[in-house]
Amino acid sequence: MYDFCIIGGGAIGCAIARELTRYKASVALVEAAPDVCTGSSGANSGIVHSGYDPKPGTAMAKYNALGSRLFRAYAATLDVPYKQTGSLTVATDPTELASLELLLERGRVNGIDGLSIISGDEARKLEPNLSDRVTAALYAPTAAVVNPFELTFALRENAEANGAEFIFDFRVVSAGREDDCTTLRAADGRAVSAKTVINCAGNGGGEVARMLGDIVRLSHRAGEYRMFDKVHFVGRPVFGAPTSRGKGVLVCPTADGNFFIGPTAVDVRRSFVGIRSEAFGELAAAANKIVKNLPYDKQITTFVGVRAMADTGDFMIGKGRNPNVYNVIGICSPGLSCVPAIAISVARSFNLEKRTDFNPSRHRIKRLCDQDAAGRKALIESDSDYGKIVCRCELVTEAEITEAVRRGARTVDGVKKRLRAGMGRCQGGFCMSSVINILSDRLGTDATEAEKDKRGSYILAKEEQ
Ligand SMILES: Cc1cc2nc3c(=O)[nH]c(=O)nc-3n(C[C@H](O)[C@H](O)[C@H](O)COP(=O)(O)OP(=O)(O)OC[C@H]3O[C@@H](n4cnc5c(N)ncnc54)[C@H](O)[C@@H]3O)c2cc1C
Repeated sequence: MYDFCIIGGGAIGCAIARELTRYKASVALVEAAPDVCTGSSGANSGIVHSGYDPKPGTAMAKYNALGSRLFRAYAATLDVPYKQTGSLTVATDPTELASLELLLERGRVNGIDGLSIISGDEARKLEPNLSDRVTAALYAPTAAVVNPFELTFALRENAEANGAEFIFDFRVVSAGREDDCTTLRAADGRAVSAKTVINCAGNGGGEVARMLGDIVRLSHRAGEYRMFDKVHFVGRPVFGAPTSRGKGVLVCPTADGNFFIGPTAVDVRRSFVGIRSEAFGELAAAANKIVKNLPYDKQITTFVGVRAMADTGDFMIGKGRNPNVYNVIGICSPGLSCVPAIAISVARSFNLEKRTDFNPSRHRIKRLCDQDAAGRKALIESDSDYGKIVCRCELVTEAEITEAVRRGARTVDGVKKRLRAGMGRCQGGFCMSSVINILSDRLGTDATEAEKDKRGSYILAKEEQ
């Protein structure tokens, strides 16, 4: 029996697992998928919001303000790409200017540093591609962009290095309680027991809460995106004025140098994965209102993420009806920005004794693309597989894929999210077959068994005998 079992390997679950390993406690994490980072944590805008948007007094406001302050050091310790870019929220008419003033006031109450409203011309000096219709902007210098995949993988790796056990392909389908122990069961009959269960199941959080004795209703809101190639279009997230359905569509650089427009906000069933055809026009209309000269010919792909929304309009963080259950659910945006703050606060709430041998650091996979000529030569001399380029768009080598598999990649998307193989201009057109072959070879499976992301998402068809 473990002291803690966390359900869900998104950024929140992995961060809580890592934070608990600071203490004298045994920690397990069960995840339905074959890898971490397959839910909202793997499909979002990647912004560390400065914290002016959430309503003062909410859990969102508290954790966002603190999370944003902690993020730079957190990302540095975990070797995760993070860039403090600042952000602009723009107004194109007097009503939108009034909403910027409201956000500025909220930001002051939430304790966010450095906020100011600047003129349209001042904003265009920062972002030359801003629309001529922009009359004013709320400038938030502490906003940042982060690579959300790398963050989640880093948290998993560091939690594992400090002793947490990750159990995959374990979708919790039932839970039973006896004395001070909760037993979680998967469909295949496996069972994991723990003194305390922490529900971090994202969009599955409502279902899991009900299994654990709580009555929680979550709804699901999809955000659709159009992703563009690595061209410099904006240097920081540019938001339109917020709407009743959230922060609205933005134009935003990623931590890796691409940029995107999105997300939409569409109420959906939990299993929604596709982009609606009408989303293309909706996103273009919203983006064209705030920027000009958008290079639509540089679009390389689309993607969708689904937010888990609690009916309270706030995060649900706290003990369940069963005192040995802790829910951390309804973690919609700005949940990513809150990761360090939520994890620290949840772990501290158990009043555990600290370990002296916790190691907070983790290093990312050594990348050929990050090196100068001398560095590349040295890498190839250390391992000749660094000389075998697999993904030409993103310069990913066979040595890096081998290391990604060693660190837990089990699917083509697991390799893609760790290394960007298949995330470039050709979207895997050239490299996917090689990725499949290397992945299957390192896992000791047949290439026809290679899966895109979930179990059963096969890419190749088996030849009929
Ligand atoms: C479109 C969109 C844009 C966003 N943009 C931002 C942003 O820019 N900045 C920001 O701060 N936040 C943003 N967010 C919010 C952020 O992505 C989330 O708050 C965060 O990723 C939530 O992480 P999580 O770990 O709670 O959930 P998830 O990442 O969804 O993880 C939950 C995990 O639980 C697993 N699971 C579910 N049911 C079970 C079960 N029964 N048994 C076992 N495992 C189970 C799932 O497989 C999944 O891996 C955005 C979200 C979306 C969808």
